[in-house]
Amino acid sequence: MVLAMTLFSSQASHSASFYEQLQAVELGDTHFDAQGHVTTTGDIDRKVACLRPMRKGLPNISAESVGEQVRVHLYGHGGSGWTLLWGSVNKAVALFEEKAKEHKFNELVPITIIGAGCMGKAVALSLYHTGFQNIRIIAEQDDSIASLNSTGYLAMVSLATENESEKKQAEKLAIDTLKGYQMVEKGTHPIINEGVHLIDVYSGLGKEGEEGPLETYTGIEPYAEAGLLPKPENGVVKFSTGVSYPMRKYQTYFMDTKVLMKAFDRELKARNIPVIHETVGSLEDIKTYVVFNCSGLGAAKLNHDEKVYPNLGLLLELAHQPLKKLDYIIYTRYQPPGAPKRVSPVDKADIYFMPRSGGLLGATFVDHNDGTDNALNEALFTRILRENKQFFGYPLN
Ligand SMILES: Cc1cc2nc3c(=O)[nH]c(=O)nc-3n(C[C@H](O)[C@H](O)[C@H](O)COP(=O)(O)OP(=O)(O)OC[C@H]3O[C@@H](n4cnc5c(N)ncnc54)[C@H](O)[C@@H]3O)c2cc1C
Repeated sequence: MVLAMTLFSSQASHSASFYEQLQAVELGDTHFDAQGHVTTTGDIDRKVACLRPMRKGLPNISAESVGEQVRVHLYGHGGSGWTLLWGSVNKAVALFEEKAKEHKFNELVPITIIGAGCMGKAVALSLYHTGFQNIRIIAEQDDSIASLNSTGYLAMVSLATENESEKKQAEKLAIDTLKGYQMVEKGTHPIINEGVHLIDVYSGLGKEGEEGPLETYTGIEPYAEAGLLPKPENGVVKFSTGVSYPMRKYQTYFMDTKVLMKAFDRELKARNIPVIHETVGSLEDIKTYVVFNCSGLGAAKLNHDEKVYPNLGLLLELAHQPLKKLDYIIYTRYQPPGAPKRVSPVDKADIYFMPRSGGLLGATFVDHNDGTDNALNEALFTRILRENKQFFGYPLN
């Protein structure tokens, strides 16, 4: 329903161009005691602690000759690996093709890819599509990795770029990637044709010092400004619990990362590209003429790259959600009513709901944290639950 209206709240007025009623995430089975500790969480299926492979500056997408060997590096995409996927893979393959000419490699040259995340698997398929046929992937693991746990939000929100030039380069990768997903959605992508759809994203309109959802940099702005995704609109969202907020609506792609990784596996199998489960101790141990280093956080050691570091993302996978009615994303900073003032960066969401895997809540963005501090993890899981209960309009007890 679209309404032209002006909404007056205690702090601000916003002109509203939509009024939408949304199903709230169901959190009625989550309870807290008087100290604020979680007593029951019937709403939660699984708690996940996972690490984003951050890299100071930009991801490393480069090619070098080491004697007769060509090494291509493709790692360090932080919390935006899926968002930068096709642009990064295309760039890495193009760099490799230049080197392959120099080295006079033909399409039967043996290629080893280290890493079975989205970078490793997508680059393997892309190389095959380009004509190279002698490819193998070596990976420590391909479950519990960032690529599989990723929430699947196409947005530039979690990179460590440090200046305008780096930002522009990342935006170029992002825009090339968006074009890739548009092809996936239309069924014209050469590698996969599933697991991606357009989705509405809601973030706050409140100003600093106000309560409720606050204005947030969503990472969709560069696409909307370039006219590649719809311009945002301001309006009102009313949840099925009765709570309502002035909010800003964007649109972006939702990438169902579990579906996409499964599709990659199926396509790899169909092309006889093996995934060998081994840990590589050093790049020197790989003797093939070509090595693609897609090892994510592993590149800190393998490529002696001091710019690589972990960023902790905690996720709560939900149980018993009416998922068909929850086809939206909430990505917003949030000031809980009555709570001490939160200080969070303008581009990091406190309320982060994604419809992946039965629905999930999260995610935290804790820099230089390897996820082993269980007390901190539990405190953050509790905060996520408490604030989501408040945001979605449930009483705290
Ligand atoms: C909680 C969370 C939420 C996220 N949400 C989003 C999102 O909404 N949108 C988005 O765009 N991105 C998101 N990301 C980021 C995205 O998931 C990553 O940027 C991306 O998955 C990185 O892919 P990768 O292939 O480089 O690394 P990974 O998926 O980490 O894979 C690395 C691979 O290298 C292997 N490896 C490492 N070292 C070695 C070694 N020595 N020997 C052999 N194998 C090795 C590993 O076993 C693994 O197979 C999120 C990440 C997390 C953790």
